[in-house]
Amino acid sequence: MTRARKTQWFTALAMTLAAGWMFKIFLFDFSPLPPTSTYPLDLDRLRSLAGDRDLPLRVNSVRIADGAFPEYVVVAGGNRTPVPMAWQTFQVVYADKTVIIDPAQDRARHQAFKFAGAYHDEGWDSMQTALARASLILVTAEHWDHLAGVTASANVELLLPHLLLNEKQLENTTLLEEAGLDAGMRAKVQSLAYEGAHAVAPGMVLLPAPGHTQGSQMIYVRLQDAEELLFVGDVVWSTLNLERRAGHSRLVANLSGEDRERMADQTRALVDLGEHAERGRVHLLIAHDGALTDELIAAGIVGDKLE
Ligand SMILES: [Zn+2]
Repeated sequence: MTRARKTQWFTALAMTLAAGWMFKIFLFDFSPLPPTSTYPLDLDRLRSLAGDRDLPLRVNSVRIADGAFPEYVVVAGGNRTPVPMAWQTFQVVYADKTVIIDPAQDRARHQAFKFAGAYHDEGWDSMQTALARASLILVTAEHWDHLAGVTASANVELLLPHLLLNEKQLENTTLLEEAGLDAGMRAKVQSLAYEGAHAVAPGMVLLPAPGHTQGSQMIYVRLQDAEELLFVGDVVWSTLNLERRAGHSRLVANLSGEDRERMADQTRALVDLGEHAERGRVHLLIAHDGALTDELIAAGIVGDKLE
């Protein structure tokens, strides 16, 4: 090989490596949040819609299953370290009724999932008892891991009339079919069309958050003792997204069918919520961050048993 040819060859190799490196950064590493958010997370409005009468008394949570995603799946720029993921169900308790948020999946669906870890049958059993008593069942996203607690339940026919899906969730028939909610079942659930923030019960306000899925929503809850909680669902998968100010990578977002820009805008709003001293009183609950829920349980803000 002549000297000139060698130089040519090395230049081509260097350019290929550089292009590969840039492609890797583009696909895996780069998913910054915008400097400011346009997402309307208006606490004053949420508080006024929540009202101050007949507020819920407490919130409980139970762990249904565990697993782990590689860090690079959870957050752009992440490494291969496993990040624990949890599947949990929440219960909002009123003086005269209860509401369930995110009835998580059954054992069979969980074990078929690539990133599955332990499954907690006692969690499933207590969720089923709580579901049977619930006057209302809500989901933050129309995915199987938020719905199969109903669709795979032995009581499914009794539960369906209490399941309230928003219009965008109900229109997402591909995901609903995956979750086991067929057309016959869809005809038996409650449907809600709303725009902007919507009070679904005293002290409980739905907030559309399309991005992770078209029907994704956050749920703001104000308790009688003035504690405030915001169920953010899958807008972020971990507090890592908030700490590092980064969303899912382009690759993960594309494979999951997510609108990464909208999620980045929503995530920015959550970061800002945490940073503002007075607003920081609102406790975030992330659907798949079990450690965050455990902190709230240890602090006495969330109970660890369903009623
Ligand atoms: Zn989820």
